[in-house]
Amino acid sequence: MKTKFIFITGGVVSGLGKGISGASIGALLEGRGLHVSFMKLDPYINVDAGTMNPFQHGEVFVTEDGAETDLDLGHYERFTNAVLTRKNNFTTGQIYDSVIRKERAGEYLGSTIQVVPHIIDEMKEKVRESTEKADVAIVEIGGTAGDIESLPFLEAIRQLRHDYGRENTLFIHLTLIVYVGNGEMKTKPTQHSVGKLREIGIQPDILICRTKDPMPQEIKKKIAMFTNVETEAVINGIDVGSVYEVPLMFHQEGLDDKIVEYLNMWTGRPKLHEWAETVDRFRNPVAEVTIAFVGKYVQHEDAYESLNEALIHGGIANRLRVNLQYVDSEELEQGKISQFLEGADGILVAHGFGERGTEGKIEAVKYARINEVPFFGICLGMQMAVIEFARNVAQIPNASSGEITPDHSENVIDLMPEQEGVEGTGGTMRLGGYSAKLKKGTLIASIYESEDIVERHRHRYEVMNRFLPQLEKAGMVISGRHSERDLVETIELNDHPWFLGCQYHPELKSKPLKPHPLFASFIAASYSFRQSLQQAVASVEKD
Ligand code: GLN
Repeated sequence: MKTKFIFITGGVVSGLGKGISGASIGALLEGRGLHVSFMKLDPYINVDAGTMNPFQHGEVFVTEDGAETDLDLGHYERFTNAVLTRKNNFTTGQIYDSVIRKERAGEYLGSTIQVVPHIIDEMKEKVRESTEKADVAIVEIGGTAGDIESLPFLEAIRQLRHDYGRENTLFIHLTLIVYVGNGEMKTKPTQHSVGKLREIGIQPDILICRTKDPMPQEIKKKIAMFTNVETEAVINGIDVGSVYEVPLMFHQEGLDDKIVEYLNMWTGRPKLHEWAETVDRFRNPVAEVTIAFVGKYVQHEDAYESLNEALIHGGIANRLRVNLQYVDSEELEQGKISQFLEGADGILVAHGFGERGTEGKIEAVKYARINEVPFFGICLGMQMAVIEFARNVAQIPNASSGEITPDHSENVIDLMPEQEGVEGTGGTMRLGGYSAKLKKGTLIASIYESEDIVERHRHRYEVMNRFLPQLEKAGMVISGRHSERDLVETIELNDHPWFLGCQYHPELKSKPLKPHPLFASFIAASYSFRQSLQQAVASVEKD
């Protein structure tokens, strides 16, 4: 079968959830037994998301092959079985970069290089190339219809419909129903944004209208009439409690039926029982846990998208509600430790870059270690755990990291010799999937039920092996190593109920239908901690 394309655009305002919508459509089509792939086309000029500020752009999602991509690729992987690569995310910058390189290499044989046809052709080529093997490729165009930036991408998908025909391409447009006064629903912005698309030559086939409440039939009819789509193709995109409810909600709206009808595909009814079970576990927890989430970008939750989700997956695995209590590590530096961390059933110290807030993170580790609160350190979080242990237990009083104190003799975390002196921040990171060997009999090996793992990385600094004898003698267990380069991957403490750090990002592989074992175990341990505290309080009250 030849690949069919679903192009997703957005209108009215940004942030309507094109990523979640595309991911949910992918889940529904997979449920129908189809092989799906994804692509995100980003209108910005940056060549990739790696250098973008997480405050502005949200998290950088790292693929197995080590590409730093848009966070929507995270949604796509979480909702489906697709494993994406650097070919699944393109930016305007990358497209221009590749055209300019070809031009310099003389590949265009002297012709004048222009947006049409050269840039557009390059875009079309990239879309074709990266979606070859799928039954259906879901291609999301970043930005909002009418933006100057996204015009070339829209022209490219217009041409792709022309090339492949109506039965092989589908345009889905996301819009917003606006409420005014006493809650009256307004469809005009939707009509205008479809008008904008039509000016560009794109007639959407399906509209997903984001709305607080379901649209009454007459509103759907009105939108259908003025936008030239079928009434049954005007779909309610209702605000739901959890993004994991979206696939089921779309299915109830008949979205997947409409898609396969328009694409002229024959598939069975979708199998969605796992989604229904997951939503049920999320909606009906038996109890709750509170996790203190210590980070630097906590005012901006998108910056930790995958980590937030992975913690929720840990809750789903245990049928527990996970309350995330975000703690700004800089606040901890001002001595407000107990105020922020008391009452937490588990403490997670997140990844991050730069010096700011690191001492606060170290304080959080110390609190968790001494009070035997379950502790999970991710990447920078693990590095801070090593520093804390080195300073306060292993008698390396000035232990630090090269990221905080370059050229310091007690940097237990530092650059590897081969990275030193490399200019700039690009090119020196360990990115993507690397294998690790876990030590038999450790907590982490028992959680994975395996001694061989592959997890994704995004970091520059490493634990320095020359300090390991001292750390191990003081009781730190080096439980996982990347053998080829002899790098520390995971650490744990024996005399603590659950204290674990990993240099990699397990959250990047966690899914609602397949919660990552480390998050499932961390949440379970946090719940046990909570129960033991409650029992202790109860027994004191009895006395
Ligand atoms: N800044 C640290 C490093 O580069 C940690 C990175 C991270 O937490 N992802 O090694």
